[in-house]
Amino acid sequence: MALIVQKYGGTSVGSPDRIQAVAKKVAAERAAGDSLVVVVSAMSGETNRLLELAKAVNPDMPPRELDVLLATGEQTTIALLSMALEGIGCPARSYTGQQVHIRTDNFHGKARIQDIDAARVRSDLEQGRVVVVAGFQGVDEDGNITTLGRGGSDTTAVAMAAALGADECQIYTDVDGVYTTDPRIVPEARRLDRITVEEMLEMASLGAKVLQIRSVEFAGKYRVPLRVLSSFEDGPGTLITYEEEDMEQALISGIAFNRDEAKLTIRGVPDQPGIAHQIIGGIADANINVDMIVQNVGGDGTTDFTFTVHRADYAKALDLLTKQAKTLKAREVTGDDKIVKISIVGVGMRSHAGIAHTMFKVLADEGINIQMISTSEIKVSVVVDEKYLELAVRALHSAFGLEGEAAAG
Ligand code: ASP
Ligand code: MG
Repeated sequence: MALIVQKYGGTSVGSPDRIQAVAKKVAAERAAGDSLVVVVSAMSGETNRLLELAKAVNPDMPPRELDVLLATGEQTTIALLSMALEGIGCPARSYTGQQVHIRTDNFHGKARIQDIDAARVRSDLEQGRVVVVAGFQGVDEDGNITTLGRGGSDTTAVAMAAALGADECQIYTDVDGVYTTDPRIVPEARRLDRITVEEMLEMASLGAKVLQIRSVEFAGKYRVPLRVLSSFEDGPGTLITYEEEDMEQALISGIAFNRDEAKLTIRGVPDQPGIAHQIIGGIADANINVDMIVQNVGGDGTTDFTFTVHRADYAKALDLLTKQAKTLKAREVTGDDKIVKISIVGVGMRSHAGIAHTMFKVLADEGINIQMISTSEIKVSVVVDEKYLELAVRALHSAFGLEGEAAAG
């Protein structure tokens, strides 16, 4: 008998029919002997609808009250799913985050889970009940309702699994696993049977939006066995692993890309201590995240910087940089928001040379100019003109043999 935490996302519980379908599946697994804790999201579209309501009455959306409002989305689903379960003879109980003591810090809208008291859940499980828990919400020290950020139900599920020492945490969603790249761009993209947690973190942060990134970090920290599966079709999904067991794994597990970037360049700044701090610090102080950073070698006592930011921050960053350029007497500031970042990701890179070289050759053969490059132990990223996105991803996918038979990771 296994203890399983399952999480169903908004689409999976998006209508009464779908809620009943989830109930049937859960009841069948309980009948087969497993103990089940089920974490659910709000019905699809509901969180956005609530946000619109809040905006309509007060565009400032006071964070404490917004969390009280948004938490109702998940509260609706736990009640409906528990009713559906009871309706088919499966004993079930619903709990809000507060009721199962999902203690968080007090950062409304992006709270972090600090502690879960699983005693109540355990006692229900012992009595043969299915426990249905509201995702995305918690309670701070003073009893205020908090929420964990968009997509936060994934994190609730992983945290519940960690607190209960569950045998597996299964995230049911509208895709059947993690793919080598986005199938909308490369139809031959293939589901991975397994992927290491490090690769998953790179893929997620780079735009393969299957799991909330924080849930993956959480799973990594507590080594929670985590699996992504489809709620609409049977299949093994993708298992997130913590060891590189298979030495013969593929060099590259996947290709991620991010269309939401823009790049900025400042040329001819003094080549002296404190300049990077001043330029990048000024951007960070405005709460703008900087992703890639490239500094050129100095020449005539000056140097150049190029960095990327989220496209939504482009105008603001350009403005700030232009002001800094005046203070620093820099030569010029330029920018481009028609770029994309493409990354090849794989733990296999650690033990193999020449991966970056292959990537550059593939892009060269396609006549694609590389504007920026950055590397980590398990990833090589390039920035190219956005018009080459499809071409580049397809060429790389094929060059690294990702459409082959055996799934790796
Ligand atoms: N309902 C929340 C959202 O839409 C949390 C979740 O679905 O995971 O972001
Ligand atoms: Mg989600």
